[in-house]
Amino acid sequence: MPKRGSSTSAPVILDRDGLSALITTLKAKGYRVIGPRAADGAVIYDDIEGIADLPAGLGDEQEGGHYRLTKRDDDAVFGYTLAPQGWKRFLHPPRQRLFAARRDGGGLAIAPPEAAVAPMAFLGVRACELAAIALQARVFGDKDYADPGYRRRHGAALLIAVECGAAGTNCFCASTGTGPEATSGYDIRLVELKGRRFLADAASARGKEVLAELPSAEPVQADLDAAAAGRRKARADQTRALDTAAAAKLKTVPEHPRWDSVAQRCLACGNCTMVCPTCFCTTVEDVTDLTGDHAERWRQWDSCFSLEFSYVHGGAVRTEIGARYRQWITHKLSTWIDQFGTSGCVGCGRCITWCPVGIDITAEVAAIKAAGTRGG
Ligand code: SF4
Ligand code: SF4
Repeated sequence: MPKRGSSTSAPVILDRDGLSALITTLKAKGYRVIGPRAADGAVIYDDIEGIADLPAGLGDEQEGGHYRLTKRDDDAVFGYTLAPQGWKRFLHPPRQRLFAARRDGGGLAIAPPEAAVAPMAFLGVRACELAAIALQARVFGDKDYADPGYRRRHGAALLIAVECGAAGTNCFCASTGTGPEATSGYDIRLVELKGRRFLADAASARGKEVLAELPSAEPVQADLDAAAAGRRKARADQTRALDTAAAAKLKTVPEHPRWDSVAQRCLACGNCTMVCPTCFCTTVEDVTDLTGDHAERWRQWDSCFSLEFSYVHGGAVRTEIGARYRQWITHKLSTWIDQFGTSGCVGCGRCITWCPVGIDITAEVAAIKAAGTRGG
């Protein structure tokens, strides 16, 4: 695993040309550069070729079950909140071939799972997303269940954080302790200032190496003050909060009547699990061709909201939608702590935005707390 510490280099200022040079330098070093761009009515994370691809002047508004792109009154390139899908889809792809087997004489020839891929550089990783990447790295780095593909992709990736200068309506990372300041887990950190200027520092050897190759200038005190003001605003903006103490006790209330209440609203669509940057569940599927000479095993994202997900011998054990919602939120916020030593929620708010009926994870915890959790 790469060492991405919190010991940072002295900050420098990159201007528009410096940001452009960052992208071209990364490409010259062989990185596939992925960053924000506008597409399909949203800011998404996708391959970018240069700064012209960045979503200049675009923001977003997010509410429960609601997302719209908006025009900003400036030309900030990182002025949106979060893309619908995080970086998970690059590090933990939605569909992956695990191996292929071909009949070869009397035996089987096995093809390797994945050809070598170019290392990826992620441009625009928010603090909550750094926390989500660190959580998944812990899950896939587990000594008993290590995922070599994930470890390879994560180890090779260069993470360029961009701190939030404001918070979205659904953000609650301040209450989960995962933002809004990017404090660790990045290679390079940027803070966007007015006039297409960026305060930049690096926290790893390769981050420092890249930053040293870029045209830059020394910041003045006003730049440092502006960055600090943005951090304060992103924290002060957050009106939503997760009661983490009550959330940790969800495992004590499996019979709570709130599970029936949420079942009346939840469609079991699984959107929340697809957009969540820490959900990691998968299923496997074997496919063969008509000759029977060739077979492949694919791994793909699965969701605890599907009936099949809880299938064991004889049938599914979570036939009620309330039981599936309880499984998801209790694992995410409560039993994840027993399993991995930390909550599985980084407060990004995506599950609220992309829930078609606007179910709000923070409100469900508050309602259960109000009705009483054991010891709470
Ligand atoms: S549970 Fe919701 S708010 Fe928490 S990390 Fe997942 S998508 Fe983000
Ligand atoms: S909570 Fe919302 S997003 Fe999640 S499965 Fe239910 S309806 Fe879909």
